[in-house]
Amino acid sequence: MKALLLRMPPDNPDPEQIEEAGRIIREGGLVAFPTETVYGLGGNALDPASSKKIYAAKGRPSDNPLIVHIAEWEALDRIAAEVPQKALMLGRIYWPGPLTMIFSKTEEVPYETTGGLDTVAVRFPSHKVAQALIRASGGYIAAPSANLSGRPSPTKAVHVIEDLGDRIDAVIDGGDADIGLESTIVDFTEDVPVLLRPGYISVEKLREALGEIRVDPGIIADNSGIIPKAPGMKYRHYAPKGTLSVVEGRPEDVIRTINSLIEEAEKAGRSCAVLCADETASSYRGKVYILGCRADEEEVAAALFDTLRQLDTDGVEYIYSEAFPSENLGAAIMNRLLKAAGHRIIHAGEESL
Ligand code: AMP
Ligand code: MG
Repeated sequence: MKALLLRMPPDNPDPEQIEEAGRIIREGGLVAFPTETVYGLGGNALDPASSKKIYAAKGRPSDNPLIVHIAEWEALDRIAAEVPQKALMLGRIYWPGPLTMIFSKTEEVPYETTGGLDTVAVRFPSHKVAQALIRASGGYIAAPSANLSGRPSPTKAVHVIEDLGDRIDAVIDGGDADIGLESTIVDFTEDVPVLLRPGYISVEKLREALGEIRVDPGIIADNSGIIPKAPGMKYRHYAPKGTLSVVEGRPEDVIRTINSLIEEAEKAGRSCAVLCADETASSYRGKVYILGCRADEEEVAAALFDTLRQLDTDGVEYIYSEAFPSENLGAAIMNRLLKAAGHRIIHAGEESL
């Protein structure tokens, strides 16, 4: 089966094609669609068989729950058993947008969608095509990122076709994802809200809105020991096929260390490359992949997953990345980069201590 390809501008959904895609989902099929964060792989969230299909298409472990996407506030009551005041307040600021909130679920939401949990993750995306599709599909789309499990999330329709082109019914190409990193996830099932996954809405902004917020320790831990509360965060993720290491330290130490690692790898006949910011790109020997200006977090975020995929396409075996600042959106960038690297961190400069 080859996926039907539908194409439309991000801000002007085509009613006929949306109706066709909506029908596919209503009838139990799968449609990948653009959102402001990354492309999602959508099925009817209230139909257990559709959710099972999503797991099968992605090769995703079935204990890793899906996010339910809605396109109007009124849709929340049917799937969330209790929505605390704080969540309403946060939603009023950031919905529609790149925010996912976790609530206790109603009986309408099948366990197949929530990975067996009694809670449900809900997002109200701002992307016009996503909203139109959700409405045309019956109001509830379960959608994880539209990549094969473990690969970088898709920020372009071609990424989806590369991974899932022969495993799903249709792909809507609505241009590149604006943000390029998955939504911020906040759990509202405990007394104090808990950040489960950093995203475009930073912990600084959440704290401003909510006052108190805890950060799940699983977010920053390496893959050993602490188990994160968002089940998906425990899996190896976003990984390129090559071996990626993140090099931390003072800029001059990072440059020296990466250059010597590249020299070694080249001597051994390996293909290797550097992942870096624009400002330092000319300091490296060998091939460089530029994520954007160090000071422009949004540019770096939007380029990250596409660049990781490009490294695969180019067959790079060893990748050395600069670390990026970890304030604000930088926390989400470093979270994804370190996961992609399997927490392989090299501390530059320590050899000279
Ligand atoms: P993806 O859509 O691929 O970004 O994956 C969805 C993310 O949401 C995964 O990391 C899940 O673990 C997380 N998630 C979804 N539902 C829940 C839930 N009920 N409780 C905690 N995390 C959730
Ligand atoms: Mg994903």
